[in-house]
Amino acid sequence: MTAVDLARAEIRALQPYSSARMEASGGAIALNANESPWPAPSDSSGALNRYPDPQPVELVARLAGLYGVTPAQILVGRGSDEAIDLLVRAFCRAGEDAVLIAPPTFGMYAVCARIQGAQVVAVQLTADFELDAGAVIARATDRVKLVFLCSPNNPTGGLIAAAAIARIAAALAGRALVVVDEAYVEFAAVPSAAALLGRFDNLAVLRTLSKAHALAGARIGTLLAAPEVIALLRRIMPPYPLSTLCVNAALAALAPTALAATSARIAAIVDERERLAREYARLPQVRAVLASAANFLTVRVHDAAKVYRDLLAAGVVVRDVSRQCGLANCLRISIGTQAHNDRVLDLLAAYVEAA
Ligand SMILES: *Cc1c(COP(=O)(O)O)cnc(C)c1O
Repeated sequence: MTAVDLARAEIRALQPYSSARMEASGGAIALNANESPWPAPSDSSGALNRYPDPQPVELVARLAGLYGVTPAQILVGRGSDEAIDLLVRAFCRAGEDAVLIAPPTFGMYAVCARIQGAQVVAVQLTADFELDAGAVIARATDRVKLVFLCSPNNPTGGLIAAAAIARIAAALAGRALVVVDEAYVEFAAVPSAAALLGRFDNLAVLRTLSKAHALAGARIGTLLAAPEVIALLRRIMPPYPLSTLCVNAALAALAPTALAATSARIAAIVDERERLAREYARLPQVRAVLASAANFLTVRVHDAAKVYRDLLAAGVVVRDVSRQCGLANCLRISIGTQAHNDRVLDLLAAYVEAA
């Protein structure tokens, strides 16, 4: 039993759509895709009249290098959101299968499950927002096909130890695919769970250029998984998921000079996070600052609704996460520029008398 055997039988048997780009590329005269022979009059790049490569070879190679895997272990999509959706559709039978999540966590796992008609098994984090690996294993019934673990977790910022991930993957081998979402791992001083891929064929890792690489608008996310899982998901992916403009933006961001600049920015965000964690903790309105390995801090205040409204009135939008389990009166605040962060500190400091 390998991880791909856990997928829906009809997806494994599916005859996928075969696009012109998949069937043939190269050739000096391309008359196989009903494209315009001329670039659009408005198109200064001169390249957009052609359909893009479904999985651009150079981008896949650069991402494989960046994430320390082989190209066959890479699927590039429109953000990691697309990979989450593809995984749920490929692995969960509507009305029968389930995904396991560990709330409070990123909302897309449950939303994609519900769209697919899969059940959601929730194993809450402990009171201090740690993952209970034993409880995850115990609650992973035969129906659970996917286990989503988010590290650093959104919105708490906490990490899951590599040993816990390995323990869960080992316990669920042949039963479920364990998906570790590392959207924020660049801001954490820990290695990627991709280092464990060689040991567990039922492990997958989600990475994205949206956060640390500042390309949220380009929508480039990557799934790292066993080559068989990647090949399976390619069968259900739309024919041309990545736009040429976005692929070029991603390639530019992965050039050595850009990567060096990104590293410096990550270090600056981490410095600001540590400064803000100290400063927020000193404010009377703030009851707690959750330990964060990401590019945000989640703080518990006395009255989240009021603080949210007051910040908004001053032009600062933060995320009210207080409806999520265990996060009453919590706000998630992204780390911005130093000037943005100082503005938030000033506004929160104004609560001295009220608190
Ligand atoms: C932001 C975020 C993503 C979304 O990433 P995209 O690549 O932009 O789709 C995925 N997972 C988590 C936990 C996030 O916070």
